[in-house]
Amino acid sequence: MVSSKKGFVRIKARAVILAMGCRERTAGAISLPGTRPSGVYTAGAAQNFVNLQNIMIGKQVVILGSGDIGLIMARRMTLEGAKVEAVFELLPTPSGLARNVRQCLDDYGIPLFLSTSVFELHGKDRLTGVTVARVDDRFRMIPETRRLVPCDTLLLSVGLIPENELSLSAGVRLEPATSGASVDDRFMTNVPGVFSCGNVLHVHDLVDHVSEEAGLVGQCAVRYLKGEPAPEKTFIPVVPKADIRYVLPQTISGQEDVTISLRVTRPMRNAAVLVTDQGRKVARKNWSGSTRRK
Ligand SMILES: Cc1cc2nc3c(=O)[nH]c(=O)nc-3n(C[C@H](O)[C@H](O)[C@H](O)COP(=O)(O)OP(=O)(O)OC[C@H]3O[C@@H](n4cnc5c(N)ncnc54)[C@H](O)[C@@H]3O)c2cc1C
Repeated sequence: MVSSKKGFVRIKARAVILAMGCRERTAGAISLPGTRPSGVYTAGAAQNFVNLQNIMIGKQVVILGSGDIGLIMARRMTLEGAKVEAVFELLPTPSGLARNVRQCLDDYGIPLFLSTSVFELHGKDRLTGVTVARVDDRFRMIPETRRLVPCDTLLLSVGLIPENELSLSAGVRLEPATSGASVDDRFMTNVPGVFSCGNVLHVHDLVDHVSEEAGLVGQCAVRYLKGEPAPEKTFIPVVPKADIRYVLPQTISGQEDVTISLRVTRPMRNAAVLVTDQGRKVARKNWSGSTRRK
């Protein structure tokens, strides 16, 4: 550990819980073409300026990405007196909660353009506008749909990246689908005594879910410290099938109740999640009428 008060300190621990969270994708992370003027912020950085420091960051705003933080900032910037021109989303469906689309955009007359992205930034010192265009089903720009949207501020809400550099240096195996650690049903990684939870394990929509998971992981770490043996049976892989992007945990013992978290690949109505073991039905959960992606 390194700290300004204690300097470099070595702490011996029998269990470590990794809870480093995520960082936001930036303009560089999504290779946004064009100039590099001021006025381009991640939505979280904008939240920090506006909500915490009471600093207004612009007057004419475009939002790229329909993640929840972007939607919330569309409303916040409007309430603070800015004109929010539009939210542009690359995917054909909004990324954020349907509730946030309604309460943050529809209620304030802010248009949402799907299958549309920003393809160029303009401006030397300060942002003066962005070029947007529609994309085809392979996310390629449709040139004839290009248009200039004047603005002085661009907020990015284009995803989060789990902060796993420390995990990698500890030899923790990561899952490509989540960019987080691969864990068993006690949230333990492949490194004995190293646990993972929260956004560094997989991106959560709401902080409440993070808190619930954190409580569980704490209990699992305590069980480990008390020397409670892990279930003897070799661990069973949980394999996502059709329409499921990922499941968590990635392995289970099959001897204890377990909560499975998952994300689907596309919005569906009247869907069911079916858990099978060698073709035998183990559990089923129905959702009706939902169009949410998550
Ligand atoms: C910009 C933004 C706005 C959000 N707004 C909402 C909202 O309004 N409502 C809601 O329900 N959810 C919101 N979320 C989601 C919610 O914040 C997250 O799901 C939740 O905070 C994740 O909790 P966490 O503890 O896993 O990670 P975090 O809350 O991100 O905490 C991780 C902590 O670990 C620290 N850290 C990282 N690496 C190291 C290291 N090597 N050494 C020491 N410390 C380290 C970080 O600095 C950070 O303090 C938002 C997320 C973001 C990014």
